[in-house]
Amino acid sequence: MENGTKKVWHFQAAANGAANGNGNGKARSKAAVATIREVRFALMDNLNKEDQRPLIELGHGDPSSFPCFRTDSAAEDAIVDAVRSGKFNSYGPSAGILPARRAIAGYLNNGLPYELSPEDVFMTLGCAHAIEVTLTTLARPGSNILLPRPGYPYYDACAANRNLEVRHYGLLSDHGWEVDLEAVESLTDHNTAAIVIVNPGNPCGNVYSYEHLKKIAETARKLGILVIADEVYGHLAFGSNPFVAMGVFGSIAPVITLGSISKRWIVPGWRLGWLVISDPNNVLRNSGFVDLIRGSLNTSPDPPTFIQAAVPQILANTKESFFARINGLLREAVDLCYERLEDIACITCPKKPEGSMFAMVKLECSELEGIKDDMDFCLKLAKEESVIILPGTTVGQKGWLRITFAIEPATLEVALGRIKAFCERHAKNKNKQ
Ligand SMILES: *Cc1c(COP(=O)(O)O)cnc(C)c1O
Repeated sequence: MENGTKKVWHFQAAANGAANGNGNGKARSKAAVATIREVRFALMDNLNKEDQRPLIELGHGDPSSFPCFRTDSAAEDAIVDAVRSGKFNSYGPSAGILPARRAIAGYLNNGLPYELSPEDVFMTLGCAHAIEVTLTTLARPGSNILLPRPGYPYYDACAANRNLEVRHYGLLSDHGWEVDLEAVESLTDHNTAAIVIVNPGNPCGNVYSYEHLKKIAETARKLGILVIADEVYGHLAFGSNPFVAMGVFGSIAPVITLGSISKRWIVPGWRLGWLVISDPNNVLRNSGFVDLIRGSLNTSPDPPTFIQAAVPQILANTKESFFARINGLLREAVDLCYERLEDIACITCPKKPEGSMFAMVKLECSELEGIKDDMDFCLKLAKEESVIILPGTTVGQKGWLRITFAIEPATLEVALGRIKAFCERHAKNKNKQ
């Protein structure tokens, strides 16, 4: 039968659909959403190998390579103890081992008006895996999800892979990057499953007030959607608003809280995160949603058992002075960053970051000679100054830049000097600079 006719493999249709963006591949074609990692590596390809100066990376939120950002020794000891005990070499249950789930429930209970149980907690391979599991569970034919713009592109890429339609609501740059609740209402229909918020924010460095979070929960309730709260930067807050967990409002609207130890403990390579059902009225449990999460976890890999086993000790023994020192370092870095950026004519920062590791700043390309857009700016900056920053396009905001301030302050100062020199060299009106 195959003689003379070209063999057609079934999987080709799916792959072609993705490439052509037609038919079944319509949503899949959006899998072309570039993740931050992809764009960073594209920028690195553009470095000038002759430049003797060290490369400075302000493109991602992982300061773990700087000695001043090394994690607390108590966390390292917890891992060593877990390995040395010889008790954690087995497979764990797919929801995670009980001591870890209990410890995370205890950690997140702080400040909640109700009590989380270990049953509400699922251990994941970093927050990224918690995002994947959540979106897998929400993806139904026709359903959609609301994501912030600017936002964290991993959500867009994950949604595209699952044929889950994405609708973007704006964050208001002139209102401290608060959620545009009117846009949320107008975007929502009966197929909308959830709204994602990132607090403290990536890429904007926002820390939302209690009142604003409450308004988000009330809006979600009115619209009948659940809130996915990405709190991977939880407690990395060093401005006027303290960090408030979205779970506080779980009785207004059901909340799924996503987090990890990657950012607060500065150990993203340990791949330990969680997905937590912050839903005291059991809306999610009664609708079978929690069973779907369990099902999804059954067919995905688990975080290593010994890392989970270290969690109770990590949470119990990490010193307050470690957290205070890291927040102090970040505050120092953000002050420096904000002050130096004020000095650069073609860049404006509408709101000094109060949390996370990032500032979103506006670029005035019209003031620059021979710079087309934010991507062009970042490519040329990489080539001429060996500094990597992220074009706003990557996070959904063309004409803007996302700058990481979470690096050692002395290196940050050098990087900001190079950015200033670059902008001055390319300025149309040299006098103005
Ligand atoms: C870094 C980050 C994640 C992923 O966290 P991991 O624990 O490293 O998987 C998720 N969401 C946001 C907003 C992030 O910045």
